[in-house]
Amino acid sequence: MSSDDPTSSLDALVSLCKRRGFIFPSSEIYGGLNGFWDYGPMGVELRRRVLDSWWNQTVRQRDDVVGFDAAIIMHPKVWEASGHLESFFDMMVDCKECKRRMRLDHLLRDATGDGTLGKIFPGFEGREPPGGETPTACPHCGGELTAPREFRLMFETRVGAAADTKSVAYLRPETAQAIFVNYRNVQLSSRMKVPFGIAQVGKAFRNEVTPRNFTFRSREFEQMEMEFFVHPDEERKWFEYWLDERHAWYESLGIRSEKLRRREHDAEELAHYAKYTTDLEYEFPFGWQELEGVANRGNYDLTQHMEASGKDQSYFDPTRQEKYVPSVIETSAGLDRTVLTVLSDAFAVEKVGDEERTVLRFAPHIAPRQLAVFPLVKKLTEPARRIADDLRGRFHTLYDVSGSIGKRYRREDEVGTPFCVTIDFQTLEDDTVTVRDRDSMEQERVGTARLAEYLAAKLSA
Ligand code: ATP
Repeated sequence: MSSDDPTSSLDALVSLCKRRGFIFPSSEIYGGLNGFWDYGPMGVELRRRVLDSWWNQTVRQRDDVVGFDAAIIMHPKVWEASGHLESFFDMMVDCKECKRRMRLDHLLRDATGDGTLGKIFPGFEGREPPGGETPTACPHCGGELTAPREFRLMFETRVGAAADTKSVAYLRPETAQAIFVNYRNVQLSSRMKVPFGIAQVGKAFRNEVTPRNFTFRSREFEQMEMEFFVHPDEERKWFEYWLDERHAWYESLGIRSEKLRRREHDAEELAHYAKYTTDLEYEFPFGWQELEGVANRGNYDLTQHMEASGKDQSYFDPTRQEKYVPSVIETSAGLDRTVLTVLSDAFAVEKVGDEERTVLRFAPHIAPRQLAVFPLVKKLTEPARRIADDLRGRFHTLYDVSGSIGKRYRREDEVGTPFCVTIDFQTLEDDTVTVRDRDSMEQERVGTARLAEYLAAKLSA
């Protein structure tokens, strides 16, 4: 983002997303619902392109990863065995004065020195509060904080007509567990051999204490997860491999390299199932934040499910002639977070002469709309429509006749359309059109006979 003020640049992006049909607050006419978002026509295209890119790179272009899609609601015993029922909660504190609710781990993390809160909690320079104490003053107003309390993150629901405790079920807080409990089904039916992976995209739900920063922390979101099953001796090798692959994927979306970094979890931060984890982070207007976790989950999950279900989850390795429970390297990314990252990274407000223009500089292959076709004036509607209809067979194309040509270009800049094609009077004479480039704003005349090839080359660059 080009603005120096983080709040204003995020606000400007939120407002653009609504104005141009990327993202709306859920149930807005009833005042919205905190932590839930709806994707408009532009947002849903962008989402699909990001998702397709992930699926292609993770599943279609490989022969050692297969796809999978599970039900959202699973047997409640899954969550008992996985440790979620016991461990999946956040500690929270409330301010008695300003009534803000905050996550204790965020307060402590910010108090480690890199955030502004460190100044307010001078005793908390280390990750562990000295003497097991917790902060007592609100970082926002200085008011007194309550003692920390547990806040369970899983959404509960009921299955069937009987409203007894046996009918309680949960909306999944992660997609991964469905892969673990199906790993034998998938491995046997697809004749996969370790090392191999299972990938899934799907909704996950967490009753977050503090949903915020636009879609960054939502209560309903989509995950793109891949669990890679390996021999225990090869954990480190595959962990490094997948960390590199995942980092490269974010760069392939056109995200600036200097805005991406890796951060290893220290012992206190590690999830209950992980041996080691490294987060891939992006520098948002609100600071460096996690995009994805790459974790070595060891054989924790398979062993837990083996014990709880009584079903053998070990694997006989024909090459090694050895039976073992595989270790798992997990790559766990958020689709909504990636979409927000792509939007944040592409968003710019710049001066063009005396005017300001807002532009989303998406990489062409993920732009929600690839082309817009304009007749210069209404008289040229017929040839312009013909060209738009031809191009629509190959590219996601808008035909637009309303407003001045300058206004039409600006509208397309705001939704990140990489190229606009304009039909003018010269087209009638020599069969050429102008192609205008979103980023350089330069225009080039191109013959209609080679227009589709020309655009295809530009869009895949
Ligand atoms: P945090 O500590 O920020 O709550 P986490 O470490 O619990 O996150 P994971 O369990 O590792 O997150 O989830 C994997 C990925 O799923 C995250 O990297 C993120 O991209 C996505 N994700 C997790 N929670 C949310 C959420 N509330 N909203 C949007 N995406 C999320």
